[in-house]
Amino acid sequence: MSATTESTGRRPLVAILSGAGVSTDSGIPDYRGPNGVWRRDPEAQKLVTYDYYMADPEIRRRSWQMRRTNRTLAAEPNAAHLAIADLEREGVPVRVLTQNVDGLHQLAGTPARKVLELHGSARSFVCTKCAARGPMADALARVEAGEADPPCLECGGILKSATVMFGERLDPAVLGEAAAIAEACEVFLAVGTSLQVQPAAGLAGLAADHGARLIVVNAEPTPYDDRAAEVVREPIGTALPPLLTRLTAESA
Ligand code: ZN
Repeated sequence: MSATTESTGRRPLVAILSGAGVSTDSGIPDYRGPNGVWRRDPEAQKLVTYDYYMADPEIRRRSWQMRRTNRTLAAEPNAAHLAIADLEREGVPVRVLTQNVDGLHQLAGTPARKVLELHGSARSFVCTKCAARGPMADALARVEAGEADPPCLECGGILKSATVMFGERLDPAVLGEAAAIAEACEVFLAVGTSLQVQPAAGLAGLAADHGARLIVVNAEPTPYDDRAAEVVREPIGTALPPLLTRLTAESA
């Protein structure tokens, strides 16, 4: 499946880049952003930094406790996730490129094949040795049962969350697909992202370079505001549903 074949239909392809701001209404703080939780707390950042994680069992133990107690897996989709799922349900060709690892777009009803998770998913674990994967809930159940640092059941390797840690490369295949979508789309909607870090900034620039109509919905100014056809500063939960309804009407 490629973005190009999807965009050959009559209705224009809408790419939605979603950042941390889309999930704050679901009670999930901004972890990775320039002012995110981890950047402000170096000790906490070690728990999600690949080299520390691989080298130190104590870091892994604390990291599993953090995963066990954080609220990401219990969070519910909010009005923004639901409005994006509605857009897809209305037949508008949509691809979601998300910086979030919470899986809330899929929980809201956007089909998983339409969602590219740029930073991976907190809902799965992965083995750092054999790449075996499974539901995070299964690994957390082992932690609850007393395993401080549950090893891979296939090979004994170190398990981690299937998210991209600091010091890890983003998946080149996912990045390549995201770039193809940015180039192919007619509308590129950046929501709840500061567009200050890669790959988000690059994708917005790529879309604008290829003639997409750029729409920015973010509380703070972004470096791409002057290239945007539309900049919306209102809260995402109230601004996004009417904006997407308008896009649906334009697309019909
Ligand atoms: Zn393994």
